[in-house]
Amino acid sequence: MKRNSWIAWIVGIAAIFAIVEINPQIIPKAKSELKAVNSQIQPYIYLIGANINKEISGETKTTSENQLGKVATPIESPLKNMHTSSTYYYHFKQNVPQNVRQIFENAITEYNNTGIVKIIPGTAQPNQNNLTFFIYHKKIENIVSSTVELGNGGPSALQLNNYAINSGRAGLNMTYPNMSVKNSVAMHELGHALGLGHSSYTNSVMYPVDQGVSKLSEADLNGLKNIYNQ
Ligand SMILES: [Zn+2]
Repeated sequence: MKRNSWIAWIVGIAAIFAIVEINPQIIPKAKSELKAVNSQIQPYIYLIGANINKEISGETKTTSENQLGKVATPIESPLKNMHTSSTYYYHFKQNVPQNVRQIFENAITEYNNTGIVKIIPGTAQPNQNNLTFFIYHKKIENIVSSTVELGNGGPSALQLNNYAINSGRAGLNMTYPNMSVKNSVAMHELGHALGLGHSSYTNSVMYPVDQGVSKLSEADLNGLKNIYNQ
């Protein structure tokens, strides 16, 4: 973050405190705005190619989990220290082609087979967890890093005290279908939607560079168990 934006934040926070001091009934409104911030989708990129160390540094350390002696794939911040349901209702956006639906169905089966989550087709009630699968087009020409975005996804948690209602999203970049319409990419993006973060282990589906891994590692399973309290 740039220095100027820090100053803007400090000024902004000071202004909020000043307003709340003068006008206490503003507090409930501020709280509802805070919830809206917490529920924002976090975009994630998925990189392929050489020279990616610079881009992924800072996302590849899982030392705190290692130090505990049990390796677990990290949890994305919207679901960290939150309770949430392990049952999800999912749907596809209308323009998702059949081959992409099949790839995501494969990933859903893989996650359901763990017994940790239950992902079923249908429409969620407002208080239930839900997943949306989508496609998009994004062309990236980064000659320096030789990277291509294959998909993105993430959780979006409406937080009520320590309980989260997750609206997860997972999508594939159809500008590069030969690279993106793969089980490994669908597993990765669905993992994000369910709350898994990036792993530094190459046998993890959550490693930020496509390794063709479509089976959840033991650390991935531990990460899922941590999110869904098992
Ligand atoms: Zn990712």
